[in-house]
Parts: sequence; C-alpha cells; structure tokens
Amino acid sequence: MPARTDSAVVIGGSFQGCLAAEVLSRTFTQVTILEKGEFDEAQRPRRAVPQENHVHLFLLRGKQILEELFPGILAELEQAGAVVADLGHEVKCYQYGRWKNRFKTGITAHYCSRGLIDSRLRRRILHNPRITIISGAVATALHMSQGRVSAVAFRAGAREQQISVDMAIDASGRGSQSSDWLARCGLQKVREDLIETRLGYASRIYRRLPKYRDLWTVLLVLPRPPHERCMGVISPIEGDRWLVTTGGWFGNFPKPQPEEFERQLTRLPVPDICEVVSQAEPQSNVFGFGMKGSLRRRYELLTTWPDGFLVMGDALCSMNPLYSQGMALCSLEADRLREWLPHLMSGTISTHDVQRRIIEVIGPAWNMAELEDKRFPETSGVRSARMRMRQWYGLRIGLLSASHRKTLRTQIGVTNLVTAPKALYEPRVVGRVVLDSLADATFGGPRP
Ligand SMILES: Cc1cc2nc3c(=O)[nH]c(=O)nc-3n(C[C@H](O)[C@H](O)[C@H](O)COP(=O)(O)OP(=O)(O)OC[C@H]3O[C@@H](n4cnc5c(N)ncnc54)[C@H](O)[C@@H]3O)c2cc1C
Repeated sequence: MPARTDSAVVIGGSFQGCLAAEVLSRTFTQVTILEKGEFDEAQRPRRAVPQENHVHLFLLRGKQILEELFPGILAELEQAGAVVADLGHEVKCYQYGRWKNRFKTGITAHYCSRGLIDSRLRRRILHNPRITIISGAVATALHMSQGRVSAVAFRAGAREQQISVDMAIDASGRGSQSSDWLARCGLQKVREDLIETRLGYASRIYRRLPKYRDLWTVLLVLPRPPHERCMGVISPIEGDRWLVTTGGWFGNFPKPQPEEFERQLTRLPVPDICEVVSQAEPQSNVFGFGMKGSLRRRYELLTTWPDGFLVMGDALCSMNPLYSQGMALCSLEADRLREWLPHLMSGTISTHDVQRRIIEVIGPAWNMAELEDKRFPETSGVRSARMRMRQWYGLRIGLLSASHRKTLRTQIGVTNLVTAPKALYEPRVVGRVVLDSLADATFGGPRP
C-alpha cells in the first residue's frame, strides 16, 4: 500500500536532519523536526553537536548535492566569509613523508566553520512553510501499528507527547536509539560493526596571520602510518581566523589544554604547523573530542522492517572523522532519498528497499576507511592479501601524486567522490605507479 503523504517526522535537526526534512517537504505537506537542543538561526556552539568545534572539510560531491537541494547556499557561505580554495594548489600538504607539488585541480573546498554551514541550513529550513520545528524535544520511542510506524513519542520539558506520522526518519546522530526502539517493537536487535581506533581531536581558533596568505590557504600535515599517528591542519574559517586541529589514532591526541595542544603540534611529522601557530594569537580555548572509531549499524540485514521508517546520517554510520566523509555521506543519503521517495510513495518499492539503497552509498567510504585504519597493527580484523595490495597501491598513489599533476587530480577527485575510483587503476596510472616504485627501490626512496 502506498504511504499517505500528510505527516512526516525527522528526529534530529543537525546536518542530516535538515537535508532529510527538505527532501520530505517536497512530498509531505507537514514535516516536523524534533530536535533535543536549540534550532534557530544563531551561530552559537551546539552542545549536542560537539564536533562543531573541529575542522570540517566538506567533500565536493556532498557540496554539489547541498547546492542542488538549497540553491545559492554556497554563495551565502562565501558572503559570510567562507574561503574557497583549490585542493591541489592552495593546500600545502605533507603526506607519506613528502611535500606535494602544488597543481591546480579545479576541485575546490569551502573552508568555514561547521557552525556556519549548519546555521545557514537551519535558516533555510526555518523559512520552509511545510516544516515545523519543535526545539527541546527528545524523541523517546517509536510506535508501530500493522507493520508500519504510526507515531513518534517525545519528551519536551516535563511533558511526554506523541506525534502521529506516515513517515519517520531517525537523523539523531551516532547516539541513535533506533536499534533499541525497534527491538521494543519486536524487531531483531541490529548488528553493529565497530572498527576500534581510539581516535581523538583537539582544536583551537587563532587570528589568521596575513603574511601566509600568499603562500598557502591551508597547511595540512598527514602521518605515514603505522609509525606516525597524528595529523594536523591549519584551515581558514570566517572572520579572518584559523581553525587549527590536530588529531590521531590510538590515543595519539592531546588533552584539551593549551600546553598539551602545543606539545602535540611539535610531534607532527614536520615542524611547519607548530612554527606558524607559535606566532599566532589564540582566540579560543582548546576543544577536545574522542571516539572509539567507525561505527555502522547493519539495518539492511534485518529480515523485517517497519514501513514508513528510515535511519540516516551518523545514526546509520559514523565514520572515522579523519577521512572527512561524514557530511558528504549525509548528502549522498539525502540524494538517494530524493531519488527513491517518489517510488516509495507510488508503492513500487518498500521502505526497507529505500533503506537498503541509502545504505549502499556507505559501502565504498566504509571500505576505504577500514583499509586506512588497518594500516595500524592495533586495529583488529583480518587483512586479506587483496587488502594489503590495495594498501600498498594507495600508498604509492599518495607518493606519486606528490609530483605528478594528473595523479594528484585523480586522487583528489576520487577522495571528493567526483571521480570513479577505477580511474586510479587505469593502465597509464598503474604504469606510472610501478615505475615510481621501481625508481624509489633503486634510488632509495620511501618503501611501504
Ligand atoms: C571530530 C569530528 C570531525 C569531523 N570532521 C568532519 C569533516 O571534516 N568532514 C565531514 O564531512 N564530516 C566530519 N565529521 C562528521 C560529521 O560531523 C557528521 O557526519 C555529521 O555531523 C552527521 O550529521 P547528523 O545530522 O547525522 O548527526 P549530528 O550532527 O550528530 O546531529 C544529531 C542531531 O540529533 C539531535 N538528537 C540526538 N538525539 C535526539 C533525540 N533523541 N531526539 C531529538 N533530537 C536528537 C542532536 O541534538 C543533533 O542535533 C566529523 C566528526 C567529528 C566527530
């Protein structure tokens, strides 16, 4: 039976919740966002989204989808001070023991705070007449009737309430309770996959030093695993400021204290970030963040699934943030929802089919993150011969792209999800990788 099209609820009003609500509002006449924190245009730190204090690179494919859903939003970010930079030319990047030559790639990122992006999104949502916001509302349960979700229960202040729905989407982030809620409705408990890497971040805002403006826009230092384990980045944000972030695997990150933060910068593979930061004036405290690792919930494996219910964003899969994929995945998931919602409404596919199609977009990103995390011996799990080969090849691509323009363009295109990964395996690229590694073996260059 096709679903009715009157009322939909989105649990969580952060990045994924805003995108999902916008898509739903094109079909449902009444969309309600339940958000446990505040939901307004103000660009103040949100307690429920602590990662907002840390650097957020928004990959190009995600950005394109955001612009399709909210035309003009990138221009708004630029007007508010976001800095647009070519990822090959204006980012000075050290990776795998080499500084990369800087080439124009035409692939750009908008550098600004995560808070700015989300505040502009919330502004658009607040102006959408089909969307109602209930701030300070904590979703607490789902109700089901005849195999479909019929209501979402929530608490607002001291009051327990519920709202009837034709469709509900959980976009409540990594701490999502959906698995428990569904279990209480009689469904199986969902399997969770965790790749434990004990990650952490620390970030601090500084005043931007004008003397570096012509030298680079972003200064990025990446480790060469498994021996090096921490990264650092200086990236511009609105208000002529820098957001400096350092993070690492397996406990290699500082406590959120200025001395610890500065000490960690001295441990990066090269001293450049430390030298720049030592001259800059801090504008904030040091913010910290820790997480166990990448986590995904395998809803596609359940044999029964309620009609009218979907899980999206970090509630479905929250990836190791060091690979900068989270917001792009949210966008790809919203794009899948936009594509498949009409089919769901016409009754040609089921909600579980839509959920599976949303989950499909996660696979390649998850595999890439797993491959990278498994470079560290402490990461548990099997490493097949194929995986080891791909790790070697990925390292060689990283080394080659330091000096070869086309490889750099392809690598940046693949990581930004606008170039198909198979481009990295074209014969001309493979040939260059082999020659480059033979040259290193002969002349004593880096070895994996
Ligand atoms: C340190 C760090 C750095 C990152 N860097 C990047 C990066 O560089 N690039 C990138 O693309 N991604 C990055 N990410 C990932 C990105 O932040 C997430 O993928 C993204 O925030 C997911 O959005 P979401 O809306 O699914 O969840 P969240 O942003 O976590 O939002 C969940 C929302 O749900 C609300 N909520 C929770 N429970 C309830 C409830 N019961 N009822 C009502 N509301 C509820 C919360 O208040 C919150 O507003 C990073 C993450 C971290 C931790």
